[in-house]
Amino acid sequence: MSDYKQEINRRRTFAIISHPDAGKTTLTEKFLLYGGAINLAGSVKGKATARHAVSDWMEIEKERGISVTSSVLQFEYGGFCINILDTPGHQDFSEDTYRTLMAADSAVMVIDASKGVEAQTRKLFKVCVMRKIPIFTFINKLDRDANDTFELLDEIEKELGIATCPVNWPIGSGKRFKGVYDRERKCILTYSDTEKGTKEGETTQIPAEDSDKLTEAIGQEAADTLREEIELLDGASAEFDLDLVRSGDLTPVFFGSALTNFGVEFFLQHFLKMTTTPLPRKADTGFIVPDEHDFSAFIFKIQANMNKAHRDRIAFMRICSGKYEASMEVKHVQGGKVMRLSQPQQIMASERKILDEAYAGDIIGVFDPGIFSIGDTLCMPKEQFSYEGIPTFAPEHFARVRQVDTMKRKQFVKGITQIAQEGAIQIFQEFNTGMEEIIVGVVGVLQFDVLKYRLENEYNVEIRLENLPYEHIRWIENKEIDLNRLVGTSDMKKIKDLKGNPLLLFVNAWSVGMTLDRNEGLKLSEFGRD
Ligand code: GDP
Repeated sequence: MSDYKQEINRRRTFAIISHPDAGKTTLTEKFLLYGGAINLAGSVKGKATARHAVSDWMEIEKERGISVTSSVLQFEYGGFCINILDTPGHQDFSEDTYRTLMAADSAVMVIDASKGVEAQTRKLFKVCVMRKIPIFTFINKLDRDANDTFELLDEIEKELGIATCPVNWPIGSGKRFKGVYDRERKCILTYSDTEKGTKEGETTQIPAEDSDKLTEAIGQEAADTLREEIELLDGASAEFDLDLVRSGDLTPVFFGSALTNFGVEFFLQHFLKMTTTPLPRKADTGFIVPDEHDFSAFIFKIQANMNKAHRDRIAFMRICSGKYEASMEVKHVQGGKVMRLSQPQQIMASERKILDEAYAGDIIGVFDPGIFSIGDTLCMPKEQFSYEGIPTFAPEHFARVRQVDTMKRKQFVKGITQIAQEGAIQIFQEFNTGMEEIIVGVVGVLQFDVLKYRLENEYNVEIRLENLPYEHIRWIENKEIDLNRLVGTSDMKKIKDLKGNPLLLFVNAWSVGMTLDRNEGLKLSEFGRD
């Protein structure tokens, strides 16, 4: 295999999703420890005391000048080059999670063993399932009292609609946590919490069949329970099937304790074996195979003002095929321009490194002078194709935005347009007016807070948000419809998006149906189109 093919095939790119506090950061820190990317665990992100998602975002934004929502980490382990994409934990940012998942080839979901599937996280996981990528589950915090293991698995299957296959099995939890049973090797790995924060120490391996040794290691009661559970498990759980894992229908489940560093390396090793090399991606010309094609990439995220000192805007792209080399000329398909990428960087949690080269599977950030949009394709100058777009979620909350100081009109329009380009909010106008009346739509209400905070802090513009009662948005698909003559319901509002496309807002679903009935031939869609 040529060097460049080898480079691509040793790449593993995945996203980590979890409910806040399940232990995503701790797990990531431990991964990095194995990779030697950092020397001491505890420095991935300066966890502020705040526990609220927005304040977390803002605090860290303030402290570090970088948003935790966009951390991309790369490290080496066992010959693999691993890219981890961090995702925001709060469901109000699930659209952001979806975009990040578009850039990943698999996802790791972290679950707190004492909480199981948490309410807020359901939406995130659904988003993950929607992407149909392999999902690996790490059930964390076994060093604390945990829910019953069978119940935890049952919950995942029922709540998330995905079959589970435990790769290992916990022996007790909390004070009685003794270790895990490795189902493949049929042996137990015993737990000791003396290795906290350092590399996983030598764990003792005891074959489960050796009754005396098993009892000696974990005690009679635990040994009996384990034997019973293994029997039950072997009879009840889904067979391991890598194809089902790859199609996102079966999730391998691992147990451990990120904090005390137990089961983390076990997870990493098995995960790396089961997950995929960079996957082919669908473009309008067919599938592009990563190691058989020249450089191509698509933009999945745009983030402005990541570094206050520079007031910059970064477009994150996932390289889908080939190799990127510094100073190479590439074509921005949607802009129709050939260009050199400006200072391509690898964005680590707190530092940035200028890149000389990168391969399919890698994520790079480039300075964006305002030309890129989410979903845009980059390829070699001689080529012409675009990757499948990233759908926008239909907003579910709407508010009218008013400026407090109307003298700052220019800053206001600039700020709100830029934030909308990042995809954090969607903006609309009253159907018959210009930018003087702006309506903002968001998927999660916390995005309103972020908008307000960012306009004040980054653009020095104070706004008031007046909540609107609408919950349903529909784009009008047939362009020939004369909106002035459309017969709607009394709770309906006519608006347009930034491209001038007409839309309708409704308070309830019933009015949507009513409007369709009253206007023959009207076609409504829940998704915006470019
Ligand atoms: P995140 O919000 O998902 O990134 O969660 P963090 O990694 O920041 O963890 C949240 C809290 O749980 C922190 O106080 C961690 O120290 C703690 N924590 C993480 N993993 C474990 C674990 O395995 N056991 C215990 N007891 N606590 C943990």
